[in-house]
Amino acid sequence: MWNNFDKPYPIFGASPDAIIDNFVVEIKCPTKEKTVTNYIKSNQIVNKYKAQIHLQMLATEKKKGLFCVADPNFEVIGNLYTAVIRPSFLYALVVWWPATRRLYIRQQLSRLQRLACISVTGATRSAPTEALEALLSLPRLHIEAEAGAMRASYRVKQWGQWRGRVQDGGHVSVLSQLVERDKLLEAPSDKIPPTYVFKKNFTVEIPSREVWNRDSDALAALHALKSPRITSQVVLECTNSLAELGQRNKVRLVWVPGHCGVTGNEEADALARKGSSDTFTGPEPAVGLPYSYPQGSIDNWTREKCQVDWSRGIGLRQARLLIKGPGAAVTRSLVSLNRANIKIITGLLTGHDRLNKHLNTIGLSPDSRCRLCGTSDEDSVHVLCHCPRVIVNRHKHFGAGYLAPEDIREIPVDKVLAFARSTGLF
Ligand SMILES: [Zn+2]
Repeated sequence: MWNNFDKPYPIFGASPDAIIDNFVVEIKCPTKEKTVTNYIKSNQIVNKYKAQIHLQMLATEKKKGLFCVADPNFEVIGNLYTAVIRPSFLYALVVWWPATRRLYIRQQLSRLQRLACISVTGATRSAPTEALEALLSLPRLHIEAEAGAMRASYRVKQWGQWRGRVQDGGHVSVLSQLVERDKLLEAPSDKIPPTYVFKKNFTVEIPSREVWNRDSDALAALHALKSPRITSQVVLECTNSLAELGQRNKVRLVWVPGHCGVTGNEEADALARKGSSDTFTGPEPAVGLPYSYPQGSIDNWTREKCQVDWSRGIGLRQARLLIKGPGAAVTRSLVSLNRANIKIITGLLTGHDRLNKHLNTIGLSPDSRCRLCGTSDEDSVHVLCHCPRVIVNRHKHFGAGYLAPEDIREIPVDKVLAFARSTGLF
């Protein structure tokens, strides 16, 4: 955007959050419900911002402008993004995932995810997408796309629905890297295409909440047998056996406490033990892999891939020093803060903040030196770990006068925030 203006006369107010094919995007992130009216009144964009987006369109020569006001509750946006928006543009991945290996497609996907990151964190326009994704534990979209293609490919292959030459290569090849890591994934799966059994000659009683709080496995088993929709081979076999039994008997499935001397239950336990100790004869495995197994394996692959990408990436010096990598724990504590605080923390950990070093780099401050000690550059690592003027604050909040940047990775973000605020620089 910078290059779209005359360099001697930059216009900061006009730089949009994104420029996509034929339109510009401007995102506002109010911190409170009330401040939404600063941007939209009576369902109309306030004139000041209408002018802003018109200026952006003029400067970038785009005919359309998209003006977005994020919900003040960022958790809503985060959930909306991962549950609704992301799946909609990653639809039918198994068909188009090979395209995600092209740099241009990766860049386009990254720009889309960047909009979500900025809406959630309210980060500055210059904040690097990769660091925001790491803080929010959002896998880069091309990795997420490949993982989605693996899930679909595994399911379709297990159900024998690939047709023609694609059996070995092409789109199925997305699975090969996963199977190479874990040969067990070649075993048949327990998951079957949905089968419907509406008429059952046995009844199932669902236990009360007090019971299933103690024994959720039993509840899951009873629900599976009660439901007309069956997606597991084991459940289908049980349903068929019960149906056979129900032809000449009245069958009712109820939950009873285990190991309490209930005669029928003790007998069933003994038979189950005998059954499991018998040597199995027949093609292995006797029972197909539960569907959670490949899911877990794909989740692990995604996590490892994100971590490797983060640690091997180049640039983002401060962010890589201060952020361990994508991790749910950081994200959970980050989203427990309000948006104003999230903005401070994301700025601090990504190095794109209101500190002199960054302001000097972008030409907004004549001096890059620390306002407190005046001896070093004022950047996140200096303030958080090394500045001698805030040793007492560091002792109070972190229990040590000086820290290594790696130590910050292990400190909960609310403590980092409390320390940052105590320095008076934020
Ligand atoms: Zn200092």
